[in-house]
Amino acid sequence: MKTVLMFSPHADDAAAFCGGTLAKLAAGGWNVVLVRITDDAKDSVGLTVEETIQRNTEELHAAAQALDIGEIVELGFPTDTLADVSETVLRERVVYLLRKYKPYAVFTFDPFGQNEANLDHIRVAQVVEEAFWVSCFDLHHPEHFKEGLEPFSVCERWYFGRPVSNPNRAEDITDYFPKRVAALAAHKTMMRNTVNQFRLQLRAWGRRAPLLDAAMEGDLTPLVMGFLHAQSSAIAAAHSLGEGRLGEEFRVVRFGDMEEFFEQISEPI
Ligand SMILES: [Zn+2]
Repeated sequence: MKTVLMFSPHADDAAAFCGGTLAKLAAGGWNVVLVRITDDAKDSVGLTVEETIQRNTEELHAAAQALDIGEIVELGFPTDTLADVSETVLRERVVYLLRKYKPYAVFTFDPFGQNEANLDHIRVAQVVEEAFWVSCFDLHHPEHFKEGLEPFSVCERWYFGRPVSNPNRAEDITDYFPKRVAALAAHKTMMRNTVNQFRLQLRAWGRRAPLLDAAMEGDLTPLVMGFLHAQSSAIAAAHSLGEGRLGEEFRVVRFGDMEEFFEQISEPI
């Protein structure tokens, strides 16, 4: 069984950016492990920090169940402050997890994305990118080896973003779209905070949106489905997946410019 590690700065990133593909891999027999980097302690409207942590954690478990994610690993860093966390401190945790879980692939935000404004996303993307090669060095964190771990390199890096730069892979997620909608709608607390951000921005503009007002109290599914459908339809069209299909796009990197060389000189173990 192949393992994939999804490095999720926040609870909702998996459902928001790549949930259909994770559910598709799980259905294909992959062991999907979600690594949640932060505690999401501030991502709510009108709740205390304690209530926020509890609800966002419960809702992550519901979302993970919808996507058939097999395991959640909590790193517990304070949210919205990762830019102040030492790169090497966070990197050690990622290297440890790569050596422990030995994933075939990792999913992470695009470290070279142009439009990413969230510094937690940027920090995690940078850290995972460096951990990819640092995890191979036997002089980096040799203390891990006392636990029986060993140097390890992941085979594939799957980058997503808003949007990912130079995508080279589109996954048809049409069959898994309902799971992705259910997962994102399960993040009621975080989604309502997102909705409220737009309400406040609209208010400053002098406008209001009844659809957003309704989502603050009622079912989030219509809003989430509308947004995700528009996004994944556009991706499917851009990659010619076919009429009525839905997609998620990635830049999948293995050996870069040396891919052809390694295909020529290698053979199955
Ligand atoms: Zn996020």
